[in-house]
Amino acid sequence: MSQASPQDLSGGLRDLNTPEILRERIDYAYRRVWPLAGATLVVSLVLSAFLWRTHPLDMVLFWQAVMLLLALGFAALRWARSRAADAARRPELWARRLAFGAGALGAGWGYGAAAFFPGAEGQQAFIAFVVALATAGALPIFSTVWWVYAIYAAAVMLPFNVVLLAYGTDLLRLLGAAVPLLYVANVITAYELGRAFVAAYGLRTAYKRLSGDNAEIQAQLGEQLDSLLDAHREVQAAARKLALFSERAPIAVFEVDPNATILDMNPAAENLFGFAAPELVGRSCTTMLLGSDDRERTEKWWSDFVAAGKPATIVGEHCMRRDGLELACEWTLTPLADEENRVSTIVLQGRDITQQRAAERVRSEFTSTLSHELRTPLTSILGSLQLLRSGAIGPMDKDQDELVEVAERNGQRLLDLINEVLDIEKIESGRVSLVPEPIALEELLAESLRLNQGFANRFQVKLAVQGEVPDTTVRADRKRLMQVMTNLLSNAAKFSPPGGEVDVAARQEAGKVRVSVSDRGPGIPEAFRSRIFGRFAQADSADSRIKGGTGLGLAISKRLVELMLGRVGFEDREGGGTTFFFELPVMPSEEGAQEGAARVLLTEPDSVSADYLAMVLEKGGYRVDTAPDAGSTRELLGRWKYAAWLLSRRLAGGVDALGLLAEMKPRLRDTPVVMVAALTSDEAGIPEPQRQAIADWLSKSDSRARILEVVDHATGRVTS
Ligand code: ADP
Repeated sequence: MSQASPQDLSGGLRDLNTPEILRERIDYAYRRVWPLAGATLVVSLVLSAFLWRTHPLDMVLFWQAVMLLLALGFAALRWARSRAADAARRPELWARRLAFGAGALGAGWGYGAAAFFPGAEGQQAFIAFVVALATAGALPIFSTVWWVYAIYAAAVMLPFNVVLLAYGTDLLRLLGAAVPLLYVANVITAYELGRAFVAAYGLRTAYKRLSGDNAEIQAQLGEQLDSLLDAHREVQAAARKLALFSERAPIAVFEVDPNATILDMNPAAENLFGFAAPELVGRSCTTMLLGSDDRERTEKWWSDFVAAGKPATIVGEHCMRRDGLELACEWTLTPLADEENRVSTIVLQGRDITQQRAAERVRSEFTSTLSHELRTPLTSILGSLQLLRSGAIGPMDKDQDELVEVAERNGQRLLDLINEVLDIEKIESGRVSLVPEPIALEELLAESLRLNQGFANRFQVKLAVQGEVPDTTVRADRKRLMQVMTNLLSNAAKFSPPGGEVDVAARQEAGKVRVSVSDRGPGIPEAFRSRIFGRFAQADSADSRIKGGTGLGLAISKRLVELMLGRVGFEDREGGGTTFFFELPVMPSEEGAQEGAARVLLTEPDSVSADYLAMVLEKGGYRVDTAPDAGSTRELLGRWKYAAWLLSRRLAGGVDALGLLAEMKPRLRDTPVVMVAALTSDEAGIPEPQRQAIADWLSKSDSRARILEVVDHATGRVTS
């Protein structure tokens, strides 16, 4: 779009002599050629009629013929211009032609005036009048190009003036002297008229442009307005839809500001919490909705969450209902950011999982009770069967022996299943504690092959280590890692063709060691791959009847390796078969130096104190894991079994550590707790159950000797 700015307009007025404007000026003059020719004819005829009797007839006729020709010439010029292809392109050419015509016409009038002037006075006055008429009458026609007019007027006036001066009477000479003045005045008038024309033209074009632009702007504004209205309608529709979703949604939805103040809530939220919206709007959501005993910790979490601006999912275990009932809710928090990328509101969607939690608890308790109840009689059944087969009770015939063997094999399968179910329940409910120790990789592989070769023999499969095993140590729970190895080896043996070989290899890279177990079996079917680490996942359940197995082995292995900070995976083996592997972090060599060192956990938010205590304990022969906050403490305590837990009395933000101690107590079993206080007087006001859990107290200002003495005493380590 071309929009006329004020500069454009003034520029248009200033620049008045462009070819375009000249063309317009010439056009104007040419358009008036018809009236010019007509007037020329009429005035010349009147003059001829007037001179008819007083002047020689042939002279009058000659002049009249000349004037007729001139009028026709003008008409022809106009006609030619209207036909000419270059009329618009070459305004100067047509201006010159016009000037030529004007000069000729002027000369016609000038010649007539000069030739017919001598005579009676009345006639002279009439001729002077005609001259004045011809001069002034051409002004509106030629004045758009002042110099054309100047030529015309000069051609009219010059011969007339010569005659005036030649006649010699004083009056006429005086008149003759005044004629140039008249000429100049006329030319100035023509010039000024021309300028006025040009200015008017400029204004006209500017106006045209403006109104053109204006129309365009109007049209565009109209379009923009239309699309804005469309967008507005769409937004309104989307908002209505959203409001409807939220209103009808079966889950609780809250809108909350970054300060955790509730702005709005849906009917499902009212139902879930038993409050009407006006009662909750304006109140903080942290304690009531996110449900934690530790208000400060929740608030700290909230401010971190708002600062991060990332969606989060959390479970509030003790969300309060109006009637005092506690709910467990799973919350999905979605922060919405403004244009400056600052969180403006947060949408909380909550699902009541109280029932689910209860059901999970019941299921877990049921499975473990049932499994325990089954395991005890089953163990004695198996024992009796083994006794029977050993011949200790007396010899059995072949058929009896076979039957007892079938009973024993199936009993064993049942026992395996029960053990694995118990195992996975224990792992998933976080009730398993690993006892970490440095394990030499080579030794682990050799041991696992030795233990599993017997099982592999049943399938006529040979287990072998391929290539060199790196001289590396990993920190892991020996029994559990062996369980993982056993699972991978037994699977590989089960699925290998008879007479095949299972290759075990180890490779170290980027701080990790990867142990792989490869077979030449059928491989993992494509459709089964995504489920393989799930519970009770088996590609072909017929296999389990033939080869044994529960579909739990890989699920357990995966969770165990992850607890040991590693990962499990599998890939197709080149040439057929599968390679299962696990990766574990390699233990740094200086940790190796502390081989066999007792592992202690230190929960201390202050990094200076933490560094000091860790340094004293490490020098004293302990391996120290430091946790700056409750979250990492929970994770580490869930993962490892510690010889002692040193817990700072105050956690980050001055939070009392007794809450965390109470929460962790059931998981600690025999791990002693040493409270670390700024002052020992912190002991005051500790409730009895927590006091019992505390084995001893340390002060941050205690000497090295005192610190080691307390920790040695708590861990039961005897120092020399
Ligand atoms: P199971 O006790 O049945 O072996 P796992 O969890 O160890 O349970 O294995 C689950 C399923 O994964 C197996 O039933 C089998 O279908 C598949 N699978 C595991 N290891 C292999 C392997 N090396 N080759 C082919 N299939 C395997």
